[in-house]
Amino acid sequence: MTGLFDSWQRQINYLRISVTDHCNLGCVYCSVGSVPHLPRSEILSYEEIRRLVQVAAGIGISKVRLTGGEPLLRAGLSQLVRMLARIEGIDDISLTSNGILLAKYALELKEAGLKRVNISLDTLKEDRFKRISGRDKLGEVLSGIEAAHLAGLEPVKINMVVLRGINDDETIDFARMSASRGWHVRFIEFMPFGMPEAESLATVSAREIQERIQSLGKLEPYTGSTGNGPARYFRLPGAEGTIGFITPMTEHFCDTCNRLRLTSDGQLRPCLLDDDEVNLKEPLRNGAGTDELKQLIQQAVAIKRERHHLTGGLAPGTVKRPMCQIGG
Ligand code: SAM
Repeated sequence: MTGLFDSWQRQINYLRISVTDHCNLGCVYCSVGSVPHLPRSEILSYEEIRRLVQVAAGIGISKVRLTGGEPLLRAGLSQLVRMLARIEGIDDISLTSNGILLAKYALELKEAGLKRVNISLDTLKEDRFKRISGRDKLGEVLSGIEAAHLAGLEPVKINMVVLRGINDDETIDFARMSASRGWHVRFIEFMPFGMPEAESLATVSAREIQERIQSLGKLEPYTGSTGNGPARYFRLPGAEGTIGFITPMTEHFCDTCNRLRLTSDGQLRPCLLDDDEVNLKEPLRNGAGTDELKQLIQQAVAIKRERHHLTGGLAPGTVKRPMCQIGG
């Protein structure tokens, strides 16, 4: 067998990279505002990221997603995309963004080699957008979605984190957008990471959301091309867009997990919800050769656990790092 396989025979071919821990939003469920930023010197440079991706590509990583924090806040992100697109073995580069700066960068990102983008959007109401994210930026996000389509960053997927009593009454409006606007909408179950600020927030199960959406018509399972992720996809009758459900809380999808995460400060993390990490930055900065780096990546794969245990409820502070450093 060639490629990277973990102890549970899962093939690992997907690397998510957090390029910054800074964000231009402060969402209620993502403790970005309450943790100090990492010192600039701790953040991997583009050249360091390129080198690590090149080594990873040599042992089986073929897909990369850039995330953060808000990745478009990092100056010259298209330059990094161009550097990664040139690496032999990397055949898919995607981005997760809040969309605020996409109108400005969509075209140059596409030209640099970005294939597609996921845009996070939790509400279609301006006042609510401000309440959830702390900023008045809904118009910019909608322009960013438009710009991503125009640039051909397809499929553009819209990710909505559903929070009980905060935006769950809009799930039907989002589902409708899959028919009226051809959006590919994905509903994500909120994960209580154990951050104290998020203690009052509650998950809405995908099953409950699905039941609500059925009032718009029967959801047909969709099995067309959907990317590398864990969502289950459906379509409303006649809709161009799809509706996906991501269920980290009610139905973990660890048995199909194919990913590693590189934190903005160069730690390789086998699982979002587990604090095990392998330090790549230090050896990299101390002149490690390709073989040593390969072994470290293989070590991270070897310690990847069978599954996460979020479903049973995480004690506060269980995941030590905030999402913005790990890369959501
Ligand atoms: N700034 C970018 C964005 O907004 O897409 C990328 C980083 S953000 C951390 C990535 C995704 O993680 C977003 O879709 C966000 O809604 C989601 N996210 C953050 N905290 C979460 C939580 N506690 N539960 C579920 N999703 C979460």
